[in-house]
Parts: sequence; structure tokens; C-alpha cells
Amino acid sequence: MINAKNCPEERQLCIEKECAGNPAHLVYVHIPFCKQKCLYCDFLSACYAEDTVEEYFKQLEVEIMNADPKHKEQPVESIFFGGGTPSFPAAELVCRILERIKCEFRVLDEAEISLECNPGTIDVLKLRQYKKAGFNRISIGLQSAQNGELREIGRVHTYEEFLEGFQSARDAGFLNINVDLMTALPGQSLESYEETLRKVVELNPEHISAYSLIIEEGTEFWNRYHGKPKSGFPSLPEEEVERKMYQRTKEILLENGYYRYEISNYAKPGRECHHNSGYWKRKNYLGFGLGSASLYENKRWNNTELMSQYLLGNIQEKQCQIQQLTIEEQMEEFMFLGLRLMSGISIEDFKQCFCKSIEEVYGSQIAKLRKDGLLEMEGDFLRLTEKGIDLSNYALADFLF
Ligand code: SF4
Repeated sequence: MINAKNCPEERQLCIEKECAGNPAHLVYVHIPFCKQKCLYCDFLSACYAEDTVEEYFKQLEVEIMNADPKHKEQPVESIFFGGGTPSFPAAELVCRILERIKCEFRVLDEAEISLECNPGTIDVLKLRQYKKAGFNRISIGLQSAQNGELREIGRVHTYEEFLEGFQSARDAGFLNINVDLMTALPGQSLESYEETLRKVVELNPEHISAYSLIIEEGTEFWNRYHGKPKSGFPSLPEEEVERKMYQRTKEILLENGYYRYEISNYAKPGRECHHNSGYWKRKNYLGFGLGSASLYENKRWNNTELMSQYLLGNIQEKQCQIQQLTIEEQMEEFMFLGLRLMSGISIEDFKQCFCKSIEEVYGSQIAKLRKDGLLEMEGDFLRLTEKGIDLSNYALADFLF
């Protein structure tokens, strides 16, 4: 990386200047390997044998090399390695993939390049390798600073291992670190959550995400909490406690210099996740790896979710089923994703995109939500109010046709 900017505003200006009318896109790389499956997890991830891991990385490299030449010509403004646990396989394998992307694509000097890590799978040597390869942002999955809560959700690490990992990331030179937290965990109390928040804030990461646990079908937790009642497991926090956790997240993070830029994401000024913001703004993105999704010029496609097929190179199988989004689907996404951002959506952008005014399409929904105090308008921007954020599922559902 040459001349990488630490200030995202400056970076954005550079990106715009360098792209000059040639829209940049995002690249996502899926690394589906984990040490052990967490009890609540429904992501496409599992523990695999070592030879599968090596085969996977070879196939991933082939997939990247075979990407559409038209896409390769467009500038790349961010790359995100997610999972799974991208920090679980050997660092050489991951760094080689980043090198490959840089060879094949036009990666901008200012690009944000993130890697998801889990405590217990990183050390300073590994982190230095990532840094040297060009990663400039690390996202660490902590979830809770309470070891009892971590055990309960099946995480393989302790809080102390997280601390070690965080310090190692700083020692390796990472100046942009996110910490992921979770609320509504089994046995979690308001006090234990506040303690988690305070401990994390003391470390001064640049970014904090706080998502509420959702119990998904097909997970161990689904059987545990929605199956036949089983005794011996800590109960989930009451809805009232969960609401307070959510409230305290906002208060404590705000007191400590973080601002909320998306429903569940907080950052020090200028440290928003550029990559995720791109998804919410509906930028083009290309996904590589098992089960990854792509959206390009309103065409969507997904890679196979079957490892056996992926390793055979049958990635294209499903890619043939390219879905062209209808105008209605594009409008829904524009609203649904854009309103997750605290800045909201630009009324003018809507018109530019769809050649129709927002009132023409969503006039009655907007009037109703404004009347209920869930939406507000300021200048060119339409955004959720505090009440609207609290009831975001209800408010956003109004924009589905
Ligand atoms: S580390 Fe993340 S991806 Fe892996 S099992 Fe746990 S929640 Fe799922």
C-alpha cells in the first residue's frame, strides 16, 4: 500500500478524484473456517480438515483470477475478508489471496482492507504479516468481556485472550480496529453488559459494533431455546432488560466519543467502516469464496454453498442464475438499507437513481411514518428518528412493496 490515508474523509476525496466518473466497487472474500462452531452461529462456516483448507485457498485464487475482466478494470475502494474466522488459517494463505486481488484488480491506494479476527487465533507475528500484506483494518469478535457468557455461547476464547490479541494488533501497527459485541446473551445482565462496554471503551478502539443475539433456526441455540424446554441453561434477558442494554450502548459510547452512524455501529469521528457503509449505500460489490454474494449494476448472483462443489470449481453453476433486480426491488433496497444509516437517504439521490420523486413512490408511507414520529426530514435528507430506530423493523417494513 502506498500513501494510504488514515482519515476516511480524505480517503473518500482521493477515491472520488482517482475514480473520476468510473465508480469504484467493494470486494468481499469469504473464509469459511472456524476452530469450533459457536452455539448461536448460522453463518456459512465450519471446522474442516487441513487439506480442505489448502484446496479451498487454491480454488479461491482461481476464482479471483477468472473474474470478469470488465469488473477487474473498475477501481476497488475496499476489500473485506470475513467468515468464518479469516485469522484461523495460516496467515500466508490469506495474504496470498490479498496479493492475488491486488494483481488482478485495480485496488486504490486509499482502499480500506479489513480482516475479521477472533481472539485465540492471532498473535503479533501473524498480525505483522497481515499488516505487511496491506491489511489496514482489523475487526475482532469479542462479543462479551465476561468469560462465563463467552462459554455459554460457545466461543473458544477468553476475555484475556482478546486483550492479548487487541494489544498485539496495536503492536503490529493497526490504527483502525473494530470490536464486535453482543447483547441479549444467555445469562447476561444489564450490569455485566455495562462492564463489558466500559472495559472495551477503555481500550479505545476506533469502532464498536453491538448487535443483539438473534436465535436462528438450525443452530444449537434454536433447539435449546425454541425446542422442547430443557433445564440447566441460563435464560435469555427479558425484553425490558434488552431495551435497556440497547439504551446504555448509545449512552456509554456517546459519552466516550463514539458516534452512531448506523443502527448497530459506532465509530470515532471519521472511522466508520467504509466497506459496510458501501453495502448500505448500495455500491457494487463482488463476493469471492463459498456462498458469497455479488451485486453489480443491479444484477445479483451467489456462489454455491456446497464446499464439495466449490472445490470442484463448480462456482459458476449458480452464477449462471443471475438475477436482474426489478426497479421495485432496487427502490426497496435503497430505502431499507439507506435508512439504516443515521444520515438517512438523500431525496435527490432517489430521484437521480429512479427518475421518479420519492413522494411519487413512497408518499403515503412517508406521511404516515412522519405522523407517527418515526421518520424526519431535514433538507434533502430523510431519516429515522430515535423512535424510528427503536422500531426500525416495523418502520423499514413499510417500504417493501
Ligand atoms: S467464530 Fe463467528 S463464524 Fe465462527 S462459528 Fe463463531 S460466530 Fe460463527
